[in-house]
Amino acid sequence: MDKTRPMSKLCPVAKKCGGCQLSNMNYQEQLSWKMSREISLLKRFGRVEEIIGMDDPFHYRAKVQAAFGFTRGGEVISGIYQSNCHRIVKVDSCAIEDRIADNIILTVRRLVKSMKIPVFDENSMTGCVRHVLVRRSFTTGQVLVVIVTGDRSFPSKKNLVNTLIEKHPEITTVVRNVNGGRTSMVLGDFNEPLYGDGYITDELCGCRFRISAASFYQVNPVQTEILYNKAMEFAALKDTDTVFDAYCGVGTIGLIAAKRAGKVIGVELSADAVRDAKVNARLNGTENAEFYNADAGKFLTEAAGKIRPDVLFLDPPRAGSDKRFLSAAVAAAPERIVYVSCAPDTLARDLGFLTANGYKVRKIQPVDMFPHTAHIETVVLMSRVKD
Ligand code: SAH
Repeated sequence: MDKTRPMSKLCPVAKKCGGCQLSNMNYQEQLSWKMSREISLLKRFGRVEEIIGMDDPFHYRAKVQAAFGFTRGGEVISGIYQSNCHRIVKVDSCAIEDRIADNIILTVRRLVKSMKIPVFDENSMTGCVRHVLVRRSFTTGQVLVVIVTGDRSFPSKKNLVNTLIEKHPEITTVVRNVNGGRTSMVLGDFNEPLYGDGYITDELCGCRFRISAASFYQVNPVQTEILYNKAMEFAALKDTDTVFDAYCGVGTIGLIAAKRAGKVIGVELSADAVRDAKVNARLNGTENAEFYNADAGKFLTEAAGKIRPDVLFLDPPRAGSDKRFLSAAVAAAPERIVYVSCAPDTLARDLGFLTANGYKVRKIQPVDMFPHTAHIETVVLMSRVKD
């Protein structure tokens, strides 16, 4: 695809879908827009390095989700919810989604039609197939397909799965998830493996990670590798260092750091993610990493005096960190803090706190993880000012 043209000229449903908020800009214009936003929010802390963009900013999403529904005429469709309402925009292929994942979803749509499997109807809350989620590892080639159904009935389940894997031998596992709630969340709590192990393995920065249906895992593998390598470069780890990985998810940053550091302690709120992090530690033969299921701020406050990290990584959700965590971080006094952020406004707020409490910003590096959307990822290095 041509990155000198804006998405509005490349995608027939760009306007309706609304997923690409910067669809009126070509790729270079998007990068400039993101830079100026970063500079306006972060310049008071120091120089903002040039944003690292993608050579090919298309089909980068390794995780693809499609909602299933039907048109007024009763035709089965799959696609994306229209921006600001709950109508589904039919999508056959999307310029930012993985092509193989899109093809698998199209096949499911065709099979659902031909096997006459009822599609879920959000008005009456009846029917079966509600969403399909596909996650592909670009490094191992493994593919996870999750079929989300509105309740536990699933007519032609075996037939659908068998035909799907026959048509797409690249699929390594299929999971059925049940979500019967009135919710905009895609996944419910119940998972049932229908084929394979229920998870795939991805390789990132020389480590292996297990990803299951509910795992949080970055969606753009090419840029994630660049982001995490920057985070490691900033951390400049020594094999005697103790590392604290806050908001650690399935342990990605912590396990990559564990190869270079003396010891890693990871903390994460989601019990499922912590379970995955422990499995991932074993998968990588890592013996110097521990993972705990707790609120990061509560954990670090309670560990005051007992944990003395040399380097602190934090990678919080969009809302950023909180006073409890940041105060405990300042009290723990790590030499370096590496902050990975997916929202520059909350990043600016948190940097304001840390710079007022003994830290100085050394590097600010934006990375374009989400081309064509308005999201901006940043990695920041801070160090403790000696008193
Ligand atoms: N570092 C990981 C995950 C980052 S996403 C990666 O790169 O893959 C942010 C994570 O913070 C999520 O896994 C979320 O569950 C977790 N989280 C949210 N609030 C938290 C809190 N108060 N304490 C600890 N973890 C939290």
